[in-house]
Amino acid sequence: MLAPVRSLVVVLLLAGVVPALAQDADTQNRAASTIDTTPPGTLNPQPLPPLANPDAPNVPAKELFARKLTPAPGPASAIGGYAKGCMAGAVALPISGTTWQVMRLSRNRNWGNPVLIDFIERFGANAKKVGWNGLLIGDMAQPRGGPMLTGHASHQLGLDVDIWFSPMPDHVLTAEEREMEGAVNMVAPSGLEVDHSVWTPVRTALVKAAAEDPEVARIFVNAAIKKEMCSEAGPDRAWLAKVRPWWGHAEHFHVRLNCPPDSPKCESQPPVPPGDGCGHALDYWFTAGVLHPKPPEKPPGPRTGPTLAALPAACRQVVKAP
Ligand SMILES: [Zn+2]
Repeated sequence: MLAPVRSLVVVLLLAGVVPALAQDADTQNRAASTIDTTPPGTLNPQPLPPLANPDAPNVPAKELFARKLTPAPGPASAIGGYAKGCMAGAVALPISGTTWQVMRLSRNRNWGNPVLIDFIERFGANAKKVGWNGLLIGDMAQPRGGPMLTGHASHQLGLDVDIWFSPMPDHVLTAEEREMEGAVNMVAPSGLEVDHSVWTPVRTALVKAAAEDPEVARIFVNAAIKKEMCSEAGPDRAWLAKVRPWWGHAEHFHVRLNCPPDSPKCESQPPVPPGDGCGHALDYWFTAGVLHPKPPEKPPGPRTGPTLAALPAACRQVVKAP
């Protein structure tokens, strides 16, 4: 799926149709973004079997990173790009805070750079101020970041977090609730607008509170959700620039932080284009080809993802450290 989407983007780029889209596309891709990111988990996670030959050059890097259950030692550092990198010195987000709870503990993806942990604490408090009871936290990163076996192209640096559009309930969730509760789809079946039986404007205030955090670089939401936020926003619209339409993201939003200043190997993305990104800027997302994509002529092969050699050199030490 990746190659056809990339070439489509290139064609549209040359035609000047989707400059903003291409800017975001380098770190995400459609195949990964349309996967249901919140399938039920399990109360009985099984360890992955050891690799027969972990040092073979053709081993996908995701197989190595998925088998590391603890962070790499050393100072916190984001290394490489959001969709091609890793991290050292990760910190786990506690599974229950006053203003957040972590979902799908079996995935062991509640790890991040300390700036991400700080952001979630700060944002949870700010969310409360706009009337949101608390955050349900989906995937952050693996203990050493890097590519994952399932679900995402990005989330590799410990600077990305998925947050559900469902509010935290008033009780501490049981292990079973954290694994089995589903996130609610906010988009109508047409794909053209939000589902008004579940959507409420407090979600616009919630995403605005995140976008106004100076550490936030981008927030990804479904285009129908961005459209709704465009119509609900009043005259104060600067925050909308950071809210980027993307495939999927109908039951959660994805917050991406800027590279921390003490991570010189972290590759920043270009700043978001000026303007609120509303109106005709969203037209592309509501075209028939995007809403109802044709299935590929032949099914895509398995996506093995990059090998260790394709990641920044420092990621070898990160994943090989005991
Ligand atoms: Zn995400």
